[in-house]
Amino acid sequence: MADKKKSPVEKIALQCTECNRKNYTTEKNRRNSPNKFEFMKYCPFDRKHTLHKETKVK
Ligand SMILES: [Zn+2]
Repeated sequence: MADKKKSPVEKIALQCTECNRKNYTTEKNRRNSPNKFEFMKYCPFDRKHTLHKETKVK
């Protein structure tokens, strides 16, 4: 039985908007979260909380 369903869950990276480093990876469900993720997360390079935005994992 072939499963042709495409998973709505995709891996994403959270990129710091200050230093542009990808500090976190996570998964999101495209079906439940069609908008881009934006979180305040701690950036170890800036040593403070900065805005991290969703970006693709390669
Ligand atoms: Zn940073």
